[in-house]
Amino acid sequence: MSLQGKTAIVTGSNSGIGLGVAIEFAKAGLNVVLNSFTNNDEDHALAAKLSEEHGTHVQYIKADMSKAEECRGLIEIAGGCDILVNNAGIQHVAPIQDFPTEKWDAIIAINLNSAFHTTAAALPHMRERGWGRVINIASAHGLTASPFKSAYVAAKHGVVGLTKVTALETAEEPITCNAICPGYVLTPLVEAQIPDTMKEYGMDREEVIKNVMLTRQPSKDFATVEQLGGTALFLSSDAAAQITGTTISVDGGWTAL
Ligand code: NAD
Repeated sequence: MSLQGKTAIVTGSNSGIGLGVAIEFAKAGLNVVLNSFTNNDEDHALAAKLSEEHGTHVQYIKADMSKAEECRGLIEIAGGCDILVNNAGIQHVAPIQDFPTEKWDAIIAINLNSAFHTTAAALPHMRERGWGRVINIASAHGLTASPFKSAYVAAKHGVVGLTKVTALETAEEPITCNAICPGYVLTPLVEAQIPDTMKEYGMDREEVIKNVMLTRQPSKDFATVEQLGGTALFLSSDAAAQITGTTISVDGGWTAL
């Protein structure tokens, strides 16, 4: 079945993986809703550029994924969707005893709670349309842990749990829910971790990438946002209609170790 003409909402999609997914969707002929909390001229210009390049309807809707009512509002303003990609996410690294409470709250709200609120708002629309896909961008940290990433690891494990429950509650309907678990992808979120890691280990940028980050990935390479977009397209396709409640790792072998 062609996905052409279906509508996808991708949360947190003005950069990184979310934007990569949005672009692969637009290339496949889907109408796409881009989202972030920023609401800059650049966000609207990006939507217009993608519409023009791919001949589909791409619009930008501002919603702050740390706020329940804005998560639910995003779905309603868009008029529902066929495909929901819960991607918005932030990160903070600190030992548990020093982890700022406001950082913990923000990470849990944006990385986990938002997926609950958007899914709750989107499911009635998918049921009305008689078809739906919920794709949660979790992480290798949804399946494994690293020190100093307590909130992120807890949120991503929560996302994997929410994925399973959503799949069970929709199992008898033409709706699926799965999580994609990326390893390292060189996006602004990962770039932001590099300067501190350089200081901590006394390494240059290339050494941090090779000797700290990519030691976790047996492939010794980053996954790309295009590969993540391709995985989301596959999960949206008919070929994946019986795939639900599972996680797909795009991590160069990280979680096989
Ligand atoms: P990124 O920083 O490039 O993108 C994050 C996106 O979330 C941006 O579009 C940003 O605007 C949006 N966002 C942040 N706070 C928001 C808020 N309050 N409301 C709405 N949008 C908000 O990072 P990324 O690496 O592309 O991350 C995307 C997702 O992929 C995250 O959930 C992240 O945890 C996950 N992930 C990333 C990696 C990686 O290596 N990059 C690995 C595993 C999982």
